[in-house]
Amino acid sequence: MSIFLYTFFFLLFLFLGAVSLFLSLSLGREEKKARNLLSENLRQKERLKELISEKKNLEEDYNDLYQRDLKRQHGIEELSASREIGIAVSSSIELREVLKVILKVVTDSVQTKETTIYLVREESEELYPKIQKIGSKIILEESIDSSVLEPGLLGMVRNRKENIILNSSYCFAPLIVEEKKILGLIKFRREDTRPFGEEERWFLENVSKQISFALRNALLYEKSVTDGLTKLYNHNHFEDSLQNQFFVSRRYKRKLSLLLLDIDHFKRFNDEYGHQTGDLVLIKLSQLIKKTIRDADRAYRYGGEEMVIILPDTAQEEASILGERLRRIIETHQFANFKGEPLYLTVSLGISSLTEDITKKEDLVWRADQALYQAKREGRNKTVLYRNHEDTNNVQSKLCYSG
Ligand code: GH3
Ligand code: MG
Ligand code: MG
Repeated sequence: MSIFLYTFFFLLFLFLGAVSLFLSLSLGREEKKARNLLSENLRQKERLKELISEKKNLEEDYNDLYQRDLKRQHGIEELSASREIGIAVSSSIELREVLKVILKVVTDSVQTKETTIYLVREESEELYPKIQKIGSKIILEESIDSSVLEPGLLGMVRNRKENIILNSSYCFAPLIVEEKKILGLIKFRREDTRPFGEEERWFLENVSKQISFALRNALLYEKSVTDGLTKLYNHNHFEDSLQNQFFVSRRYKRKLSLLLLDIDHFKRFNDEYGHQTGDLVLIKLSQLIKKTIRDADRAYRYGGEEMVIILPDTAQEEASILGERLRRIIETHQFANFKGEPLYLTVSLGISSLTEDITKKEDLVWRADQALYQAKREGRNKTVLYRNHEDTNNVQSKLCYSG
């Protein structure tokens, strides 16, 4: 071997050594880099974990705040509903007005297609619909479709396990005072797919007690001013109401009319068909009157078979139109006895209206009475308007004037 070859192998050995040193050095660097990356990844993973748990905490805090906010909002709603109910109780003791406010308060918070307030009939312990709201329309007892009566409702309230009864399209809120006394219930009906839920339950549970107390006071008052047989207002209440209305109308120069109605030959009717049938007729006739008059008008049993209607903001022409409408409705109505046999009767009406020269309410009553007397004299089944001066050109077929 020549020296040349030795030198060549020696140089090759040196070269390979240098290459392997270089390779091992750079591999070491790469490994270090990879290790650094791994630990960085681990650090980031830990951070991510921390962030996730922070997010969870934040979410919990948010839910907590949301719930507290909701409670506060409920509190405000409850206060506002309580306030409105409070105002309702103090602004009017009249049952119809109190019921209207209750309807408004509850339907502001529980949106429904139809809301009905049922009351318990004392004599028969049955529920009957007293007032209903469909959309924005208020329907009173006399005009509510009787098919909405549901015989099982009261039993359902008595056997209830929970105060508010919820179901997907119905919600019942019983109105109860003194633990057990059921005054009635509010029925909410929904037709859309949104079911009743905890929100509604929460609201109703919080306001139903106050509503029940307001209702109880109004019912007690109603009882004291209502005639037991006809369910019209009684004579005492007529005197009070006329006094108030007379004062307001004179003070603010507003129109006021009074309509006195008396059944024709009712003594004969009683003699022929019996007193009990007479009572049935009085009840039905009163319902017809309530159904025919406007919301602002009030009907009273003046005494026996005589009824009186106070018509605020009503001129005599309008009053005479109402009188004639009532007369015709009663004349054509088929009354019935206990056997369901058809019976007919007629009424006479006298109308008076407020004029400058009337200084006391008794004058208004006296004039209506005079007009009624004239209707009787002229053959009955008539509406007569009290006039200061005769107006013979204005006499209509069934309408004439007295005075
Ligand atoms: P007119 O056409 O003149 O009014 O004759 P009338 O028979 O109706 O009048 P009258 O005043 O002579 O008689 C009224 C009758 O009304 C007497 C009574 O039998 C009847 N009546 C009064 N209150 C009631 C009641 O609560 N129930 C019944 N069934 N009848 C009553
Ligand atoms: Mg009579
Ligand atoms: Mg009479």
